[in-house]
Amino acid sequence: MENNGKIKIKPRNPLTGMDEPAFVPPQETAPPANDDNRRPLFRIKSKNTGYDKLLSQLTESERRIRNLRRWLIFGVPTLVLLVLGLVFFLKPSPALEALPALSADAEPGGGSSILRFLNEYNLVDKGVISQDQTIPVFLEKFRLPAEKIRQINEIASQQSIIQLKAGQEYLLFRNKKNERGIDFFVYEIDAYRYGVFQIYPQVGFQLVEKEVEERTKRVSGIIKTNLFDAIYESGIHPDILEKMESALAWSVDFYHLKTGDKFKMIYDEKLADKKTVEIGQLKAIYFSTNDREYYAFLFDENGQPAYFSDHGKPMKTSFLKSPLKYGRITSHFNLERLHPVDDVVKPHFGTDYAAEEGTEIHSVADGTVEAASFTTGNGNFVKVRHDNTYQTQYLHMQKFAPGVTPGKKVKQGELIGYVGQTGKATGPHVCFRFWKNGNQVDHLKEDIALPVRFPKETLQHFIAHRDSLMTELNTISF
Ligand SMILES: [Zn+2]
Repeated sequence: MENNGKIKIKPRNPLTGMDEPAFVPPQETAPPANDDNRRPLFRIKSKNTGYDKLLSQLTESERRIRNLRRWLIFGVPTLVLLVLGLVFFLKPSPALEALPALSADAEPGGGSSILRFLNEYNLVDKGVISQDQTIPVFLEKFRLPAEKIRQINEIASQQSIIQLKAGQEYLLFRNKKNERGIDFFVYEIDAYRYGVFQIYPQVGFQLVEKEVEERTKRVSGIIKTNLFDAIYESGIHPDILEKMESALAWSVDFYHLKTGDKFKMIYDEKLADKKTVEIGQLKAIYFSTNDREYYAFLFDENGQPAYFSDHGKPMKTSFLKSPLKYGRITSHFNLERLHPVDDVVKPHFGTDYAAEEGTEIHSVADGTVEAASFTTGNGNFVKVRHDNTYQTQYLHMQKFAPGVTPGKKVKQGELIGYVGQTGKATGPHVCFRFWKNGNQVDHLKEDIALPVRFPKETLQHFIAHRDSLMTELNTISF
């Protein structure tokens, strides 16, 4: 047998053909120097003796050292060249190198139009832009050649993509042969479009529209903590909150809801790549709070859609329930209240909403500013006339909103001032006063909805419309 260095055999002395003891066995285990005759016998007779084992270990060690030497001389330079080759010619991102192709349906919906568009390629990375940054800064970490990055950036600026925006999605694709780092860099320009940058063989660009669909949703929810949580738990896009307010703000004070309050809604939504991107019309809403049930139906008779109650009363032209979005009622309208500053029984002609200094105060209805003034008791206050019957007044303001002066027209919900504690006040709050025919009344006890004003034929249309939506609402369960 030949010792070719690959087959694991004991090395032999090429001259003698004998096993080749390269190292002198250590003294204590070596046979007596004068006992030459016993040595062959010893080896033939018992291969498993300690001496033989040791000898074989030693020759094995020697073989390993020789192999190591050979490896050091030939193998290491080869490996170094190979590594250099990988680094300089392929330039793969170490992060990407470790990533297997992502499954196309790893996340239902997300980027599905892109996955179809680049279905010949492997998706190797996908994420969200963490902060606003330029394309060169973002692409730097993927080790693209500088010239490629420069070209991509040039094309991007032609497309008005100057900065990658935080929160937008990005995807990276590579060809299935794994030849290079990245072949495509995809950036989500907005809710409806992706920008696809080709990197190899030459830099190019294409816009890809997401697949858009519209649908009507029927949902319900029960409040356990607050309205926002209930919306979130029901899987409803939070933009619906604004629509709920515009439908019901006259009757439901959304900022003082209680556990157990519940709602049902029918609304349209727009999806792009199966993700909700826009809330369309809120067609109908049911809300149960304070042991009362409210309905609002969107009705469009002459090109001006508006909400009407189940009795056909308009919502929008009425009054908001509260002049503050975030505040709590600390004192109700009370004709026998003990005044907190004067310490005598004095009627309280308003409703106090406590809130942080500087909280926005809104006009509860359309109207005209009658006064924006100061008295020692009221502090800075604004009074708004809404019609011949109603006025509202807002006391103890820190300051008025810009432009709020007598004669100014204000819209329902418009900012008129900020919560403060001017005048006789023990802390920051707004004392909200509701005037009806020149007298102050409790706005929480007023039924201020306006009467039905539909012509007979319109009313018939409304009733048919309401009944069909009411039937739909009744099919929704909690
Ligand atoms: Zn008050």
